[in-house]
Amino acid sequence: MEAGSIRGTIFDICRFSTHDGGGIRTTVFLKGCPLSCVWCHNPEGISTRARPLYFKNKCIGCGTCCRLSEKGGVTAGEKGIQLSVEKREDWDRIIESCPAGALVWDSRSMTVEEAVEAVMKDAPFYKYGGGVTLSGGEPLLQPEFVLAFLKELKKQGIHTAIETALHVPTETVEAVMPWLDLIYADLKLFDSREHETYVGTPNDRIKKHIRLLLESEKRDAVVIRTPMIPKITDREENIGEISRFISGIYPEAAYEILNYNPLAEAKYHLVDRTYFFKENPTRYSREAMEGFAETARSNGVKNISMEV
Ligand code: SF4
Ligand code: SF4
Repeated sequence: MEAGSIRGTIFDICRFSTHDGGGIRTTVFLKGCPLSCVWCHNPEGISTRARPLYFKNKCIGCGTCCRLSEKGGVTAGEKGIQLSVEKREDWDRIIESCPAGALVWDSRSMTVEEAVEAVMKDAPFYKYGGGVTLSGGEPLLQPEFVLAFLKELKKQGIHTAIETALHVPTETVEAVMPWLDLIYADLKLFDSREHETYVGTPNDRIKKHIRLLLESEKRDAVVIRTPMIPKITDREENIGEISRFISGIYPEAAYEILNYNPLAEAKYHLVDRTYFFKENPTRYSREAMEGFAETARSNGVKNISMEV
């Protein structure tokens, strides 16, 4: 297959992002993740399967979707339109017939060529230190697409970054490393049993890949990240163990502490999932984030940053 025609499943392309690497960036979100963090900030990105979504605020109540539904996949209820996405409907027809854009696919299949064309629209902004960031989901769950996409971007001289949780085969990590200028790698919980409880898998493979990255020539291009999740990842013991682990491998290792994102909760009803926190916590104050950073510093991390 021609590299340009390899397909990937993408659930969003976010332009003018300033958080996912240096400068102004375009972030491409790839669908599918082998983990299942209870706080996942992109729940629509976990499943590898495309599914229809319904946005009640856009619906004009015309009833077209119900009339086109032949298998009970779309019904009208008190709360508006109800979708049963497991039903074998002609979903393309139903979605295309919605006059208000209230029904959409949650993702689209794109070739590498199409994805390159989409991100190159923002190329004028990349000259000022920006570039393209691959995120998800877990982008490395689509290794063929990611590798071909990164190679095309490097051909065009674009700065490339990735946000990954590294729970993928080692060959995949090794294959993409040469094509990346910046690697954000998550280690959310140091204790493997706790990792299994809250993230869905043990973390041996993730630790192995963090070691691989921090012992490689690319180590100065790696940032290890931990999202602060109340009473789960924000404990002193967890931050301390992660800090000792990464600074023990490479004393100059970069470590970033991310603030809790309460906005994720709003997405859960879209994908028929229940959010883990009954009472959604708020973001941490600057003082609290500085306290976490201090814990990392006192456990050996020299190069710490935080999102306040
Ligand atoms: S077709 Fe679209 S606008 Fe009409 S009822 Fe269905 S979701 Fe609402
Ligand atoms: S690794 Fe990221 S995308 Fe995957 S479940 Fe966790 S938060 Fe969600």
